[in-house]
Amino acid sequence: MNAARRARRTAIAAMLLAASGAAIAQSPTQPAVTLPLPDGVLSQPIAERLRPSLPLEVPVPQVSREDLVDSFDDRRETDRRHEALDIPAPRGTPVVAVDDGEVVKLFPSKPGGLTVYQFDRTRSVAYYYAHLDHYAEGLEEGRLVRRGEVLGAVGSTGNADPAVPHLHFGVFELGPERQWWKGRPIDPLPLLIGTSR
Ligand SMILES: [Zn+2]
Repeated sequence: MNAARRARRTAIAAMLLAASGAAIAQSPTQPAVTLPLPDGVLSQPIAERLRPSLPLEVPVPQVSREDLVDSFDDRRETDRRHEALDIPAPRGTPVVAVDDGEVVKLFPSKPGGLTVYQFDRTRSVAYYYAHLDHYAEGLEEGRLVRRGEVLGAVGSTGNADPAVPHLHFGVFELGPERQWWKGRPIDPLPLLIGTSR
């Protein structure tokens, strides 16, 4: 990269950082210093890596983008924040991958029921699909799935109300260890409706 281009890029990056309030500006020669980010906001480097995938595919394609309702900040049980998006749909409605990437874990959990953890291609974020009724045939850990490929079906496994089957969909920004169980929750809605906040 030539100097002019690098300077322009740095200026743009500084503007973006100032706008997000997420990190402090830095000179091109210094390593990036990132301050703790507000909850629910993608960090700048990861937003850049994810950009080609945005907006993500709606994980329940039978539901239109306009009908998605933000539930990231909802309170659950004892003051715990929800930190995901619930998409109600009839039991058995197909659930698809929102992006290309590897299925890293199929995990039956007490709260989440049948769950899928999928990484994006750059292994920057994990996509989390929970309360599935069942997995798609042949789905297994290590499998590369394409955006739009069926992963399973909407259900109410785990702690979901059987009367209200829904997909619980989460996005987690991964740390350098790339551990599927360890990430910072990001509000999925802006990634699905084509704007990032
Ligand atoms: Zn939920």
